[in-house]
Amino acid sequence: MPLHDRPIGERIEALLALSREHADTFCSPSAWLARERYLANHPTRILAMKCMDGRIHLPHATRTPLGIITPFRNLGGIFHLGWPYLGEMLTDAVNDAVRAGSGVLLIISYHFSRGERTRGCAGFACDAGAALAHAHQIRRQAERIFGRDHRHVYPLVCGFETDTDALIVHGDDGATLDLSGLTPAAEGDLERRLAGLCPAMPADIRRDLLPLLKGNLQHVDALRGTARELDIEHREWVICVGRGFDFLHLPNTALIVGPYSPDLSEPIGTAAAIIEANMQAGRIPDDGFLLLASTPYETVGVDRARAELKSCFLAEFAAQVIAREHPGLAHRMTSRTAVVHWPSRRLELVEHA
Ligand SMILES: [Zn+2]
Repeated sequence: MPLHDRPIGERIEALLALSREHADTFCSPSAWLARERYLANHPTRILAMKCMDGRIHLPHATRTPLGIITPFRNLGGIFHLGWPYLGEMLTDAVNDAVRAGSGVLLIISYHFSRGERTRGCAGFACDAGAALAHAHQIRRQAERIFGRDHRHVYPLVCGFETDTDALIVHGDDGATLDLSGLTPAAEGDLERRLAGLCPAMPADIRRDLLPLLKGNLQHVDALRGTARELDIEHREWVICVGRGFDFLHLPNTALIVGPYSPDLSEPIGTAAAIIEANMQAGRIPDDGFLLLASTPYETVGVDRARAELKSCFLAEFAAQVIAREHPGLAHRMTSRTAVVHWPSRRLELVEHA
């Protein structure tokens, strides 16, 4: 029986097992060596703003070791760099990189499906033009914070076509580079094309973007002609609130609400409405859904204690929103609260005080 049809208790166990597997893989000597070596060769810090949609798995689609691309995920891929918490996290990441002598590549992504409009981004009612316009708006905000010359922080608008997993790089003058239209034989020509498309991109950032594009070229080519289950409908049964959900890259399983928007009740309400609709349409069993709150921490002591408190707050806040706006759903909720030891990606469940 597929996971989304199983009783809620079994689904939750399977999800927690997945998170343990993810941490085991992440902590393996080989994965650690791969990350260290990759960062030594490609020191540009890569940050990616993206939709919570589980299909958008940039490390997988670009063949990049896990832990290199720092994701910012939110429902609909909707962000505003003026949001206080998001702006501070972003600026901290940029400051860390710059002090270490590295530039920053800020990938601002949107997604769509070429084969079927309704497989597009739910956050923009499947309107690819609106999603792209929003990405450009974030780019302008990034320019306002980090400078229009793009010498240290390069904001790159990037489309993700979910039928082929291909990236579409948007250049400075409106031109694009669609990797689904190229074969691996074009690999040697990518650097020249990229330089033409983004002439203001600093050479070191271009050097560190190229492996992502080459990886995507190979990934897209490997998928060509394979049967893919594209028509997966909405069957999410998990609402995630917080950060540290890297292990959750199953398509149409979880709705991830980052802790970024100053009005968290809005995306939480939207996520609850989607789960309720899934149950009413019979796409998932109506025996329950999971609310998973998580916060990453780096060190034991105060850092971990505060992460615990933050997760407890997020879980309680989300439960209140769901009880108020979707009372019929509230009594079917199983709440799990966790912290994630970031260096190992180990998810640890915590009890509410
Ligand atoms: Zn989306």
